[in-house]
Amino acid sequence: MKKIRRKTKIKYSPIHKPKVTIYRSRIIHPVSPLQVEEFKDGALVVDAGGKIVACGDYARYQKANGVKYDQAKLVDKRGGIIIPGLIDCHLHLPQLDLRGKHGATLLDWLKKYIFPAETAFANQRLAEDLSKRFFKKLILNGTTTAAIYTTIHAKSTDHVFKIAKASGVRVIIGKVMMDMYSPAGLQENTHNSLKESEALCSKWHGSSGGRLMYAFTPRFAPTCSEEMWLEVGKLARESGAYIQTHIAETKAENERVKELFPDYKDYTEIYEENDCLGPKTILGHAIYLTDDELRRLAKTKTKLVHCPTSNFFLKSGRMPVELIEEHGITYGLGTDVGAGTSMSLFTTMRHADYVQPHLAVSPVKAFYLATLGGAKALSLDSSVGNFKAGKAADFCTVDISAIDPRYKLGELSADEILSLLMYRGNGSVIKETYVNGQRLDVDGLKIKGEKISFI
Ligand SMILES: [Zn+2]
Repeated sequence: MKKIRRKTKIKYSPIHKPKVTIYRSRIIHPVSPLQVEEFKDGALVVDAGGKIVACGDYARYQKANGVKYDQAKLVDKRGGIIIPGLIDCHLHLPQLDLRGKHGATLLDWLKKYIFPAETAFANQRLAEDLSKRFFKKLILNGTTTAAIYTTIHAKSTDHVFKIAKASGVRVIIGKVMMDMYSPAGLQENTHNSLKESEALCSKWHGSSGGRLMYAFTPRFAPTCSEEMWLEVGKLARESGAYIQTHIAETKAENERVKELFPDYKDYTEIYEENDCLGPKTILGHAIYLTDDELRRLAKTKTKLVHCPTSNFFLKSGRMPVELIEEHGITYGLGTDVGAGTSMSLFTTMRHADYVQPHLAVSPVKAFYLATLGGAKALSLDSSVGNFKAGKAADFCTVDISAIDPRYKLGELSADEILSLLMYRGNGSVIKETYVNGQRLDVDGLKIKGEKISFI
């Protein structure tokens, strides 16, 4: 791992100085897939609006700005580590309680567990209860940004947005769209699906200061008509919102797509021809794609999500990350709950390594994918992902001794810390989670009579 040293002093105007909070701690954040920047005694300086003013060495900061300290609030987090908030690029909220329920294949698992649970999500009380537990678990796992699928139910999705708003987490959310070959209770009328999605998008996309965003969310090609894809493409262009969907997760799914869409030369062409590809399109899985398809995804700057825990669980295969990187395609990590069994991005990070038989995914690289890489995959890297000045202060505080009390922070290198988090970490190491400089309060999501853990 290469460490880079800061050459310039932290720029800070002493005259028009805003009120700031300084978090003093060990700080590790990514600058590229191969590099992290580390401050053993660091200062993360956050303004009253929740933006990062500076990130650097504490002593240097104190020397440059010490006189003005009466205007700054110092929060001493020494003994812990501050890292950027984790970014989950793909997960399904209504599947929270189905994690770990075994299905032989993707299509079997959908039929046996997922479709009945998604049908039940029409019940708004259930949707509200599940949403509260879900967002609480995101916070407890240090996930500050997430791209979330709900179900076809517009009212329940509206509830999910309300709870997301109250939770403080940064989200991209979409009502699932399914207008063909779907199980009874989950099949929609095309026109209604589009109208309801459009209404949710205009109500929520860009609200709460941009923290809440909308994604048009057709489930995948086997359950959505050509008309649906065409209209979704138009709606996404008009609104500036995202499109999220799945592609080529299993061989059986690819076969089904061939049967249903014989006029298209491959899976990608269905999305391509209907103007559903682009920088704000987020495709989950991308396991069985040809070289030519990858070339076209790269050309349109479409983003992919790697969900190794889910791919392990359903024995779907593995995303060929070496090919995807060769094509220069940007991708992030997704827990893909509920086929993914864990809400923790640390689990996904280690599985990203385990799932590759010949390729080593280093802790630095996995950390990048779960933070800045994820931000790039969601086109949010100008505002989150690391501690560059001007970005939003989305971060977590980490206690490495939660992995093993015998670990002494001072004796561990940045490489070792990231390695321990990747291979042994879970929600127990996350002590606090902040979005826009605000500490997220898990008890703010009033949940009666149930103790919610990170698991
Ligand atoms: Zn999924």
